[in-house]
Amino acid sequence: MTSGRPNLFTTEAVVLRHSDLGEADRLLWLLTPQRGVIRATARGARKPGSKLGGHIDLLCYVKLSIREGRELHGISQADTIDAFRNVRTDLGRLSRGLNIGELAERVSVEDAPAPAVFRLLVNSLGWLATTQNADTLVRWFALRLMTITGFKPELGACVDCGNELEPDDHVFSAERGGLLCPSCRSQGSDALHPASLGTIKVLRHLARSDFPAVESLNIGAEERRQIERILRSHTNFVIGRGVLSSAFLDEVRDWPEVGPVPGGIRAD
Ligand SMILES: [Zn+2]
Repeated sequence: MTSGRPNLFTTEAVVLRHSDLGEADRLLWLLTPQRGVIRATARGARKPGSKLGGHIDLLCYVKLSIREGRELHGISQADTIDAFRNVRTDLGRLSRGLNIGELAERVSVEDAPAPAVFRLLVNSLGWLATTQNADTLVRWFALRLMTITGFKPELGACVDCGNELEPDDHVFSAERGGLLCPSCRSQGSDALHPASLGTIKVLRHLARSDFPAVESLNIGAEERRQIERILRSHTNFVIGRGVLSSAFLDEVRDWPEVGPVPGGIRAD
């Protein structure tokens, strides 16, 4: 280290959460590529005209200079890379953005590198800003997140006996981590979720494709419900507890198509 300021580092980050701290400061939870989730304070960020304040809104993709601290880091400079304005000013998109941000946070560990999760989140927020199919994005994101963290559900063969699955309706067990054949489904007392042949085909397509290839998929209402239940039970089982913003997402999803919020949503 030749800078003479060995405790200063720069990083890209996405603002996952924040809360007020003291009179005018803000505490941020950030996802970074090299350090996973970190917490950092932004001094004076709530003062009018603060240089930091304009860059560190919820879900913003930023470049930060950070002074390393023992418990909490301190942000000394912030520049916006992409504010994902379309996401933050539309309640429907915002709720989905918070949902995928929370999933990314739950699989990340403090101070452990998470470059693949970080890149997935940034790319997905970019798609969320423009897609007309935000629910498919959330489902695709959950499946890809599970895959890159080593928890991809088994969708090809029976997760218990390994036998090939007949092209037919089957069931999914989050506890066992995949689809079950007819003889294995009666073993065990875990919760089983219906997975019709149509649902299985869509899940396999989502699992092997990038989002642009599945964005315009026309998924039937029953398949959507089954996929939602399967992916939510799988991610919740992996993460170990319910994902808080899923409840908010359910609420918003039941509303008619949500337009821009007048004046936008302020993240503070
Ligand atoms: Zn089996």
